Amino acid sequence: MSDLRELYQQVIIDHGRHPRNVGEILHASHQKEGFNPLCGDQLTLYLVVENDVIREAKFVGSGCAISMASASLMTETLRDKSLAEVENVFSSFHELVTGKSQNSESLGKLMVLAGVAEFPARVKCATLAWHTMKAALENNVAPVSTE
Ligand code: ZN
Repeated sequence: MSDLRELYQQVIIDHGRHPRNVGEILHASHQKEGFNPLCGDQLTLYLVVENDVIREAKFVGSGCAISMASASLMTETLRDKSLAEVENVFSSFHELVTGKSQNSESLGKLMVLAGVAEFPARVKCATLAWHTMKAALENNVAPVSTE
């Protein structure tokens, strides 16, 4: 388990330092800002949704390694997923980081964030991008805050 943990740590550090899919999408169909005031994490998420499938996902933001790694891994995961699949992944991911379930084979790379469940204060860092994504898809106009 410790080897696996170390590997997970490395992936989080890598994505935290060098997040993937950073940038604005000018033709985004959905766009949303999110904040986690507890930690100071903030991001703007851009999505291109066509025929109920997420074709592109990018973000611009700043914050701790966990928030940036989570946003990076999320944007990689969302691409080419249907909105129904995204809903399932969101639920599984939320259960994973809140420690309700560790049995989430469908999560793939997102499993690296499983350790967050042991640090309740960091759960909001890990879920910020996801809550922002949900609000973006719901076209909710109010800014997202984890508070
Ligand atoms: Zn944070």
